[in-house]
Amino acid sequence: MAENASTDLLWVASNRSYNRGPSQSKERFHAVHTPILLKQQRNELNVSDSKSPEKVIIIGSGPAGWAAAIYAARANLSPLVFEGAITNENSQNGTLPLGQLNLTTEVENYPGFPAGQLDGFLNSALSERRLKYDLPPVEAEKHAVTGPELMNLMRQQAENFGTRIITDDIAEVDFSQKPFKLKPLAGEEVEGHTVIIATGARANYLGMPSEDAFKNRGVSACAVCDGALPRFRDKPLVVVGGGDSAVEEATYLSKYASTVYLVHRRDELRASKIMAQRAIDNEKIEIMWNSQVDEVLGDDENGMTGIRLASTVDDSKKELEAGGMFLAIGHTPNTSFLNGQIETNDKGYVVWKKSFRTDTSVDGVFAAGDVADDNYRQAITSAGTGCMAALDAERWLADQGLE
Ligand code: NAP
Repeated sequence: MAENASTDLLWVASNRSYNRGPSQSKERFHAVHTPILLKQQRNELNVSDSKSPEKVIIIGSGPAGWAAAIYAARANLSPLVFEGAITNENSQNGTLPLGQLNLTTEVENYPGFPAGQLDGFLNSALSERRLKYDLPPVEAEKHAVTGPELMNLMRQQAENFGTRIITDDIAEVDFSQKPFKLKPLAGEEVEGHTVIIATGARANYLGMPSEDAFKNRGVSACAVCDGALPRFRDKPLVVVGGGDSAVEEATYLSKYASTVYLVHRRDELRASKIMAQRAIDNEKIEIMWNSQVDEVLGDDENGMTGIRLASTVDDSKKELEAGGMFLAIGHTPNTSFLNGQIETNDKGYVVWKKSFRTDTSVDGVFAAGDVADDNYRQAITSAGTGCMAALDAERWLADQGLE
């Protein structure tokens, strides 16, 4: 188990606990954010409890990872999930356990959750320990399940059928021999007959030095995590991007900001029509068409104070005052730990080698979810491919006489 949950991380976690809906008091959610309780959220399992070689090892804890775990567990394969480590690095990169959905607000397009107030269901479905998990900020009546609720429900469902969970990253793999060898950040190596890679993708940054200089001092890639912080309240804020994520972040931030500048490099949003209309209809959102961020402005004392915008159609530039900038410009798949041992495409996504199968370039290693999908990237498709990967692994084990 990685011993690295610092006070910074606890602080980030507690900032996600603002403003529950009317049926759940703020006090309750603030009360649970103590270091002791965050520790309790971790799983007690260690690598030494592993039944090496494992039949199925799943790396990742988004919808793909949990769907794979539910299916593998129900096939009596007793899967072992590495759900990710709770580290400052993962916090900064947006790669903490439970994946990208855990960083969102309401999930309106995941089938089966048409209503928002799920308190009774959550109380009956989640274990006492997980009920204390930090749940997201929701100011008004909800319309749907929230990302963190959905992820905690999936995790619980996997656990109910005998999934074993280790709260750590896999730092290295050796797929050159069977059984495969996997090395967690902390703890001993573990072996597996099959591996399902479900590590998802993380948010991109623009890559400018001035952006880097003001990370955590105005620059963020997660409005839901950071948007409610005092430094962003009643100030003009910037969201960069033109997709669904950008609109979602801008809409969320419009509750706190005086104005949200949505900076998009083209003259048309990539976001789905319903989401794009939301941005256009929101009086607090001003779309800066054909624009890109040229420089993040600020100083040591105040952190970020504004941006310089450059036009993408002419040479004009202008400065905007802003207390924060939120990036929503797509994602990069989390594959660096594979160290080139699995074939990836030109964008770094794992390649599926067979049509409508989750097989990768290494026999016995399967991939599911956003790490192998640069096209759909939906919670439901991610869960769907997680199911496929578990079935593919189960059949592979049967073919090898290892079931
Ligand atoms: P996306 O659809 O790939 O959009 C990325 C946006 O960032 C695009 O508008 C792109 O501009 C812009 N961009 C990329 N690199 C840039 C750069 N270097 N500088 C400036 N702008 C840059 O990503 P996403 O919005 O994260 O969505 C990913 C997937 O998740 C999509 O399938 C989306 O439907 C889904 N999603 C759904 C919901 C929902 O339904 N509630 C919410 C969030 C995400 P261009 O348009 O010019 O390429």
